[in-house]
Amino acid sequence: MPRAEHGISREDISDNALKVLYRLNSAGFEAYLVGGCVRDLMLGLLPKDFDVVTNATPEQIKGLFRNCRLIGRRFRLAHIVFGREIIEVATFRGHHDPAAQDASTRGKASEDGQLLRDNVFGTIAEDAERRDFTFNAMYYSVADFSVTDFANGRKAIAQKQVELIGDPEVRYREDPVRMLRAIRFAVKLNMKIAEPTAAPLKPLAHLLSNIPPARLFEETLKLFLSGQGKDTFVALHDYGLLEPLFPQLAPLLNDPRSKEMQFALTVLANTDERVNSNMRVTPAFLYAALLWYPLEEHAQKLQAEAGLSQHDAFNIAAGDILHRQTQRIMIPKRFSTVIRDIWMLQHRLPRRFGRRAFQLLSHPKFRAAYDFLQVRGETEGGDLLELTDWWTQFQHGEPGLQKKMLSTLRQKEGAGPKPKRRRKKPAKAKGDENA
Ligand code: ATP
Ligand code: MG
Repeated sequence: MPRAEHGISREDISDNALKVLYRLNSAGFEAYLVGGCVRDLMLGLLPKDFDVVTNATPEQIKGLFRNCRLIGRRFRLAHIVFGREIIEVATFRGHHDPAAQDASTRGKASEDGQLLRDNVFGTIAEDAERRDFTFNAMYYSVADFSVTDFANGRKAIAQKQVELIGDPEVRYREDPVRMLRAIRFAVKLNMKIAEPTAAPLKPLAHLLSNIPPARLFEETLKLFLSGQGKDTFVALHDYGLLEPLFPQLAPLLNDPRSKEMQFALTVLANTDERVNSNMRVTPAFLYAALLWYPLEEHAQKLQAEAGLSQHDAFNIAAGDILHRQTQRIMIPKRFSTVIRDIWMLQHRLPRRFGRRAFQLLSHPKFRAAYDFLQVRGETEGGDLLELTDWWTQFQHGEPGLQKKMLSTLRQKEGAGPKPKRRRKKPAKAKGDENA
C-alpha cells in the first residue's frame, strides 16, 4: 500500500520510533513499524507504543544504539531507551524449530551451556505468518512510506473483524492466550470476532488452565485495567473463558441478575471510569471483588462444618481462596496483602464503638475498604447500605458530629434487640484479639 492508500502520517508516529527506523535504514538494514501501532494508526487511534522489527540481529542493533539493552532469554529483543519511552526492536522471527518446541528441551541449556532458543531468525514473510491476527501483520516502512499487508489486515479493518491468521484451532493450541487477545481486541477496537475465529473459543477454553499463572496475571491486567474491563468481562463470560481464569467465581455467574454478577460488573464499571479519567487503579481491589463471594461462601461453609469462629473461618477461607486462585493467575504478594486487608476490613467496618471508628479511619487501606463496602451496599442494599452511609457521613464529619454519631450508635445498639447482641458478642471478642 503506497502512502496515498493507508493515510498514515509521520506526524502521528513517535519521534523516537522514527529515529530508530532511520538509523537502522541508514546502516543498511530493513526496519518497519509493526503490530498494534500500525493497526491503531490505520484505525485513526493513538498507539500505546511503537514496536519495530528489522533484519538486523540483536547484536547488530546493539552496535547501532548506545541506549540499547538486550533483553529476553529465549528470544532476544532490543530495548532502545529514550527516557521514559522504550522502543522495542525485534529481529524477524522465523518458524518454530520443532526440536525446541519439544517440552524436554524447552528453555533448557544445551550441553555446552548455551541457552536453547525456541525461535530462529527469519524473513519478514515468516515473521508475518507467526503473528496472531490479520490486522496485526502490517508493516510500515519509512524508506518509502509504504505499508506491507501480509494477511489482508486492511480488509479485516474495513469489515471490523478480528480474524486469526491461519487455522484458528491450530493457532489457539499453539498459544491459548490468543483466545484472550481475540476478546480483548474485539472489545477494544469495537469489532466482531470472525466466525471461524470465534467457533473454537468455547471448546478450547480449558487450554487456558495450562498457561503459566504469571503470564495470565499480566494478561488480566490488560483485559481488566485498560478502560474496557466491564465489556471485556462480559465477552469473556459469553465465550466461556472466565471459567479457566476464575474457577471459583465462574459458577456463581450463571444467572446474569445474581448479586455476584452485579457486584463484578459494578466494580469493573467503576474501574473503567477511573482508568478513563486517569485515576489510579490497583488490581488488588478488582481481585478482592472477584473473589469476595467465593470467599463468603467458603467461610460460611468452614464455620458450619468445622465449627470455627466467624473470624477464624474467614481468615482460613481467605488463605484457601487466594491459594486456589493463584494456581491459575499469579497474584504478586504486594497485591495479595492488600486484598486480605480489604477483606478483613469488611468485618471490622460494622464494629465502630469507642476508638475503633477512629482506628479504622486511619488504617492505610480504609479508603479502599470503604469503597469496597460502598459497592457491596449498592449491590445488596439493606444493612450494608446503611453502614456505608454511616461511614460516608462519619469520615467527612466534624469531630462534634463524629462524637454524636458514636453516641447515637451506642444508644441505638444498646437498646437493640437481644439476637443482635448475641450475634455481635463472639465476633467482637475475636476482633479484639486481632487488634
Ligand atoms: P496493544 O495495543 O494491546 O499493545 P498489540 O497488537 O500491540 O496491541 P502486543 O501484545 O503489544 O499487542 O503485541 C505486539 C504484536 O506482537 C502484535 O500486534 C502481534 O503481531 C504480535 N503478537 C503478540 N502476541 C502474540 C501472540 N500471542 N501470538 C502471535 N503474535 C503475537
Ligand atoms: Mg503493543
